[in-house]
Amino acid sequence: MTTYLIRNARILGDAPVDIAIEDGTIAAVGSDLAVTDGVEVVDATGLIALPGLVDLHTHLREPGREDAETVESGTQAAALGGFTAVHAMANTSPVADTAGVVEQVWRLGREAGHCDVFPVGAVTVGLAGEQLAELGAMADSAARVRVFSDDGKCVADPVMMRRALEYVKAFDGVIAQHAQEPRLTEDAQMNEGELSGRLGLRGWPAVAEEAIIARDVLLTQHVRSRLHVCHVSTAGSVEIVRWAKAMAAAEGGWTVTAEACPHHLLLTDELAATYDPIYKVNPPLRTATDVAALRAGLADGTIDIVATDHAPHPHEDKDCEWQAAAFGMLGLETALSIVQQTMVDTGLIDWAGVAERLSYAPARIGRLAGHGRPIAEGEPANIVLYDAAATRVIESGEMASLSRNTPYAGRELPGRVVATFLRGKPTVLDGKLA
Ligand SMILES: [Zn+2]
Repeated sequence: MTTYLIRNARILGDAPVDIAIEDGTIAAVGSDLAVTDGVEVVDATGLIALPGLVDLHTHLREPGREDAETVESGTQAAALGGFTAVHAMANTSPVADTAGVVEQVWRLGREAGHCDVFPVGAVTVGLAGEQLAELGAMADSAARVRVFSDDGKCVADPVMMRRALEYVKAFDGVIAQHAQEPRLTEDAQMNEGELSGRLGLRGWPAVAEEAIIARDVLLTQHVRSRLHVCHVSTAGSVEIVRWAKAMAAAEGGWTVTAEACPHHLLLTDELAATYDPIYKVNPPLRTATDVAALRAGLADGTIDIVATDHAPHPHEDKDCEWQAAAFGMLGLETALSIVQQTMVDTGLIDWAGVAERLSYAPARIGRLAGHGRPIAEGEPANIVLYDAAATRVIESGEMASLSRNTPYAGRELPGRVVATFLRGKPTVLDGKLA
């Protein structure tokens, strides 16, 4: 295995140091490390080194929708975005609700080799919300599933949600809830407000998200389990998670964690006025007040992590009327830039804060042992080299994803991933797949 010497990298934005990689592990971190025979030197002057990013919420679409994305293409996109591990959501076809399907996805990830793939198991059979899936069998499978979610759909039945929360305690699992009260969001198209009325699009009220989160917090407290709230999008949801964390911290024995998506940190519902379905997403883009509350919640630790909700859709599912279009946006290849723009360049968090929210914390929530580790001697060599001073104009045609539904096409974004190392092997070098 090739050994690498990364020269002059600024770990978490600190003073430049060298990082030596041997056999997939960080062998040394220090000044002026010696170059030995056969070592490949990577000049990282001016670049920030971050631990390999971990996404708790990715849609890879395989099996079933290989026209939108495959494990191969999705993990290429992940590597280009600086990710070394992604959790693949269960709403595939067939649904990842058995040990067989999660093992298939896990194996496809290993074969692709661009990024580790950790399958998420469905909570209910076929995401139908009626019968608990084989959670224990998925946990015991080769894929070692610890995160369970019906994402795309809400586990709306409180009895089902209670059972799931109780069941996963046996193997330290977590239920990741897509909080969307179905009756309050029938045919909903965009954030409910003055604008939805003016545009004539059916509104999606904030309370449809907040009511489910509040209910699930109380259920989690009752059965003393582990809840993760997917894609928090409203100011009210941030307040509910803050209240939940205060209770859980005082009592101990149960936890609530939460994620925000890059697009909810930047874009607002005003974009729906374009009627361009590129901006149609679930949960919907909200108001500027919600965006500010999400940023503040992410900065103060109420929201634990950023997760992409990378949701590829082929052309025909997005290039149509707003009402007919699919919900979702690409996210993997732009997440770090959006976090830089909204959280770092605004002074809300520093690069250590980015490492916490995009690597350490998501790995902890997913119970991943080999990811989310600091860049230090003896640790696995999962490293991103990032040029925060660069800018780039996003071209949807240049993305590795098989789909093109990025809301940032034509926008100039800060930052560029220069290299990604997965256990010492470069998956990206010079900004291109290695
Ligand atoms: Zn979702």
